[in-house]
Amino acid sequence: MPFTLPELPYAKDALAPHISAETLEYHYGKHHQTYVTKLNELIAGSAHEGKDLVSLVRASEGGIFNNAAQIYNHTFYWNCMKSGGGGVPSGALAQRIETDFGSFDSFRRELTQAAVTLFGSGWAWVVLDDGRIKIEQGPNAATPISTGKTPLLTIDVWEHAYYIDFRNARPKYVETFLDHLVNWEFVAGNL
Ligand code: MN
Repeated sequence: MPFTLPELPYAKDALAPHISAETLEYHYGKHHQTYVTKLNELIAGSAHEGKDLVSLVRASEGGIFNNAAQIYNHTFYWNCMKSGGGGVPSGALAQRIETDFGSFDSFRRELTQAAVTLFGSGWAWVVLDDGRIKIEQGPNAATPISTGKTPLLTIDVWEHAYYIDFRNARPKYVETFLDHLVNWEFVAGNL
């Protein structure tokens, strides 16, 4: 069975005015779709055909890895956002963040720093690693599932994620993501 583009968990204009329908038309409708199309081309007739996505990410390198990991990362990223999201988490997640970072403010500072300073294209990740919440940077298509960590939250910092709405202002995009878009219920559900 070839891979297909998973449905967005909301309408294309649901994240406006923070992330526009135009961004989602390109980012989801063209970039994410292209990773799916390319992966299907690359695995057709190969030993990788028929594997599920996570197995492919863990068992491949080069073009197959890049496209498979980007499919996984983007599906995860869409779920990290919702209309009316952002702000601060509550419950068990809030407590875990306080334990591992001292305060939500220092967690947010560290995540912002990771997202803003990643050089070139990639992802800022919040992961669960050995029972602790950690923040890491992943260049290009890197994904924490390669190394057995549990992804909790990601921010896509490839320029295609923000250039239409924020031009080159990545820090403003990251601030907007944290203020208005994070789906903390999804993040908590990944714990
Ligand atoms: Mn992207």
